Amino acid sequence: MADLTGQVAFVSGSARGIGAATAKRLAADGAKVAVVDLDEAACQKVVDEIKSAGGEAIAVACDVTNAEQVDAAVQATVDAFGTLTTLVNNAGVLRDNLIFKMSEDDWDTVLGVHLKGAFLCTRAAQQHMVAGKYGKIVNISSTSALGNRGQVNYSAAKAGMQGFTKTLAFELGKYGVNANAVAPGFIVTEMTKATAARVGVDFEDFQKAGAESVPVKRVGRPEDIAATIAFLVSDEASFITGQVLYVDGGARI
Ligand code: NAP
Repeated sequence: MADLTGQVAFVSGSARGIGAATAKRLAADGAKVAVVDLDEAACQKVVDEIKSAGGEAIAVACDVTNAEQVDAAVQATVDAFGTLTTLVNNAGVLRDNLIFKMSEDDWDTVLGVHLKGAFLCTRAAQQHMVAGKYGKIVNISSTSALGNRGQVNYSAAKAGMQGFTKTLAFELGKYGVNANAVAPGFIVTEMTKATAARVGVDFEDFQKAGAESVPVKRVGRPEDIAATIAFLVSDEASFITGQVLYVDGGARI
């Protein structure tokens, strides 16, 4: 466990999957958490789980591509908990297609949620971090940043998250803010389930094939990513910034 006492975390896309596991883990480690996603009722379920485990959390409905909603969500977090120290830019969508079939909407949607969403959330959150001279930012990239068939939009967005992260580290380091990226491999969530359905493969078989292709011979769980994020936002990681940590069972070694 990391000691995150005193931290106030804003986790985008945390109604399910990696984001929900991260919100629960950060709360279990002592942070107060804003569970932020499109659907407030779905956020509330995660909040209820956090509270029944003894943690503190609030549910905040927010579309990360909408600047007004993002500013209001950050303000709601600060109103509830007094500050905002920790940001996890996790919200994400897929619109996979080979480039000759990809629409402008597929491109704009994916770049919008991942990159513009991360930009808007970070722009709103960093002012509280800079004012408090303390902040932790983790951006969720992907092994797809290195290229993946059918994902020109997603791989461009996830590679963009890495450059975004390194620039945040340069700009915000002197204000006590660390910024790192985590690049997951195959993690079992609704996102990978939807990919299996799209390519017409049973999800169990899809996971078995995914496990075979990585050195550790298993696919990842949301908790694998949550544990990595908990470390990176802890003070034990305060000399780590501007880094991209691949958490993929060795898939890209
Ligand atoms: P997920 O289960 O689909 O969760 C993503 C969450 O983001 C959903 O709750 C979704 O809400 C929310 N979201 C989508 N658009 C949003 C918006 N505009 N504003 C606010 N929230 C929004 O996916 P996941 O697998 O946990 O993925 C989490 C992150 O990890 C993503 O950035 C993804 O790209 C990345 N990642 C995942 C894997 C993997 O193998 N699963 C691998 C590498 C990287 P709705 O359900 O309402 O749309």
